[in-house]
Amino acid sequence: MAIDPDPAAPPVARRPGVGGLIRRYWFDVVLWKRILAALVLGTIIGLVLGEVAVQIKWMGDVFIRLIRMVVAPLVFFSIVSGIAGMSDARRLGSIGVKTLALYLTLTVIAVSVGLSIGTLFQPGVGMNVSGATPEVIAKAPPGLGEHLISIIPTNPIAALAAGEIQSVIFFGILVGLGILTIAPKAEIAARLFQAGADIMLQIVRFIMEVAPFGVFALVAWVMGTSGPGAFVHVLKLAAALIVGCAIQTLLIHGGLIRLVARLPALPFFRDITDAVTIAFSTSSSAATLPVAMRVAEKNLGVSHTVASTALPLGVTLSMDGTALYVALLAMLSAQAFGVDLTFAQYLMLGITTTVVALGTAPVPSASLFMLAAVLQVIGLSAEQTALVVGFVLPFDRLLDMTRTITNATSDLSVAVTVAKWEGELDEAAYLARPVE
Ligand code: ASP
Repeated sequence: MAIDPDPAAPPVARRPGVGGLIRRYWFDVVLWKRILAALVLGTIIGLVLGEVAVQIKWMGDVFIRLIRMVVAPLVFFSIVSGIAGMSDARRLGSIGVKTLALYLTLTVIAVSVGLSIGTLFQPGVGMNVSGATPEVIAKAPPGLGEHLISIIPTNPIAALAAGEIQSVIFFGILVGLGILTIAPKAEIAARLFQAGADIMLQIVRFIMEVAPFGVFALVAWVMGTSGPGAFVHVLKLAAALIVGCAIQTLLIHGGLIRLVARLPALPFFRDITDAVTIAFSTSSSAATLPVAMRVAEKNLGVSHTVASTALPLGVTLSMDGTALYVALLAMLSAQAFGVDLTFAQYLMLGITTTVVALGTAPVPSASLFMLAAVLQVIGLSAEQTALVVGFVLPFDRLLDMTRTITNATSDLSVAVTVAKWEGELDEAAYLARPVE
């Protein structure tokens, strides 16, 4: 006969099984802590393994492919639904103008920081680039006018298929405006695009579960193959870049949040850890975009409308870290080749670097390929540019990781500020700790 358990008896403590342990020590730990732990572990393992670390790089490649997979559909669905969800079309103008004005201001500041730090650190003085293997830049970047025209896609489906973000944004804005202006008739389309954006963000959520493994492998690979030892070869340049990026991120972006948006800066930096670690490990703003959009909406309390317009624009247009780096490299080149810059040349350098930074692709090492346009301004030849690129390229990955962080923080700080100005920020969510 079965004996009924005594209902008054205290419950017997059961030892958790393997599943329970995995849940407790993995899935129940907030994501940013897992990613940060992966970053630290990846650094150590990479330094221990050395070149062998290349064997695990595939895990990083899998992660980058997964995340790049969602970029084009996420941007398209988000931008259409963000605009279609506005109360009226004038909001787009207001959000757009504020966003672009902030991006431009930040880029100009970044270029000034780069030029000042370059003057202060003198990274090119005494440098001998003649030993470098010249790295010829195959294709000159297109002129500004040409670039602007090419944003209009002749075939939007082809632009989507090729992942041309600026063209996708352009077409997305028009589709969103179309829906908004014929509102009741297109209700079903508005709902469809909103559902599409939600689905894409959910896919990002799934992909982020592999992020700790991807980050671990990428960082181990970089540390194993280049290692911090690489910094020694370009020590002054690296030090100048780190100081410059720290100033731009902590003082300028932090200052924007604190003084302009009038919000505490600490929750901002705490809540964006996921995006920062992904920027650092992938060296690509494009790969960071899906995570940045998720972080903005889920952790920072930025509305879907602002996040979906400000962030994709920022990824393609605003690159503070890149602007700062290109300005710094221009100073390094001028110093290495003994060019004494006049005030007018400084000015031209500043303007050209700003324009170049606006057109740099959000992928690893992209800024190096924009250098020719900037160095031309100070009278350096194509051969001299090739020498500088050849000198920096072998060590560029670590430098790229640093500047891509600043590229990401610039976009997120602008999204928060514009959301605050537009009354599109959920301040309680901004202040609260991230839950995932
Ligand atoms: N890697 C940078 C980015 O994707 C671009 C660059 O500075 O090379 O944001």
